Amino acid sequence: MDIACCHCGALHWFEERVVSRSRHELPAFSLCCDHGQVSLPMPPDPPAFLKYLFSSSDLQATEFRTHIRQYNASLAFTSLGVALDQSINAGGRAQPIIRIHGEICHHHGSLLPEDGRTPAYAQLYIYDPQYALDQRMRRNTNLRRDTMESLQQLISTSHPYAGLYKPAYQILTEYAHVPDVSIRLSLKPSRDLRRYNLPTANELAVIMPGDGSDVNAGRDIVLRLNGGGLQRINDGHPAYACLHYVLFHPHGEHGWHYNLRMNQLDRENPRRLSQTDYYAYQLQMRRGQFPIILRGGHLFQQWLVDMWASAEQNRLNYLRLHQDDIRASLYSGIVDAVHDHAEDLDFSNLGRRIILPSSFTGGPCHMQQCTQDALALAHYFRKIDIFMTVTCNPQWKEITRELLPGQTATDRPELVAWVFEMKKKAILKDVLKTGVFGRVVAHVYSIEFQKRGLPHMHLLIFLDDPYTLRSAADIDTRCLLWLC
Ligand SMILES: [Zn+2]
Repeated sequence: MDIACCHCGALHWFEERVVSRSRHELPAFSLCCDHGQVSLPMPPDPPAFLKYLFSSSDLQATEFRTHIRQYNASLAFTSLGVALDQSINAGGRAQPIIRIHGEICHHHGSLLPEDGRTPAYAQLYIYDPQYALDQRMRRNTNLRRDTMESLQQLISTSHPYAGLYKPAYQILTEYAHVPDVSIRLSLKPSRDLRRYNLPTANELAVIMPGDGSDVNAGRDIVLRLNGGGLQRINDGHPAYACLHYVLFHPHGEHGWHYNLRMNQLDRENPRRLSQTDYYAYQLQMRRGQFPIILRGGHLFQQWLVDMWASAEQNRLNYLRLHQDDIRASLYSGIVDAVHDHAEDLDFSNLGRRIILPSSFTGGPCHMQQCTQDALALAHYFRKIDIFMTVTCNPQWKEITRELLPGQTATDRPELVAWVFEMKKKAILKDVLKTGVFGRVVAHVYSIEFQKRGLPHMHLLIFLDDPYTLRSAADIDTRCLLWLC
């Protein structure tokens, strides 16, 4: 990866280019910034102590990286609400991987713990640092106290949200006699939509119940003294990521939100910047930038799952709210079926209220359409000539060469996926364009991710009649030709 994108500086392999045909032309890339359409500010350099923990190979730093998810969770302001699937890690000695079931969300509680419970998450930022440290260590007895103390000190001074909780608590204590009083953290957009200003401690305003100041409910973070249950942080809130992944965003850098736009200066209404475009931009390695997220190991895996799930949930939400636009009525035959055969049907197994169109990758309609296409090809061309399986090897030199010091392939799932994609394209080019097995009339492939996260591809190839493989000798010569 030695070619920098001319727009955003992300490093790429030459094979990832999308426009130029030779090394003499300036290569262009779309994966990082979509030809310069995504432009985000460079995050500030992390504090020296964090840099040391993320990159050193001494005992303290290694211990930190082994338990990075625990350190992050004990210092985070919000908790993670998700059903983790631990069965995948059972019994094996391989690196643990993260798999979730259902929805993922971030929660924020009241500033005081419920009766009989010890304070946690944002609540700990109100207390005396020594007490907060004791509480954190009591919950995580296997972690190093010196590392936790330094990190707690670091987040308390560098993260802008850490300084808001204490004054908010004091203000709310003064109004404790008013029921359901709250403080809302409303972010003020600056002229540059990529940045948001956080209210400072002396700008915190109390929201009285029913006084009409409740305009942005659901989108803001609401602080209450007690009660109110767990509040769900909207994943379009700019602080969604920085309130939980405090070790990745030690300066509280804001992330993706609904108002971000593509960098289309020539248009009056630039296209909305999607979550996947935003996170693809963040995933790139750039010269002169400390890749703190890419060095996160287990926390990086969790971050990837979290951000992907959040993007997927937003896509599903969009479909849920635009059922009329995707002509869900076309699928309403199911309703007639219910009317005609109501007495024989088990309603719990019947249909869905929300229709996912076939354009939703991985949805039932999409899978069904792909299966029908593959079956139609098999029906028309009759015989498959070659069934090829391509597996991913984490020891491929393209992967090992680009790993950061001390990393293994499991620490960089994004790198593994990119290398596999390049190899897949090269193989398809050999088979379809160069015609190493002869002229190909049709092909079908599917890519699956194995239990440990390594991709593999199954490729079916239908050859034109004169090239059909008829004997063992045919197979030997054709495959040998390709390998040579
Ligand atoms: Zn770029």
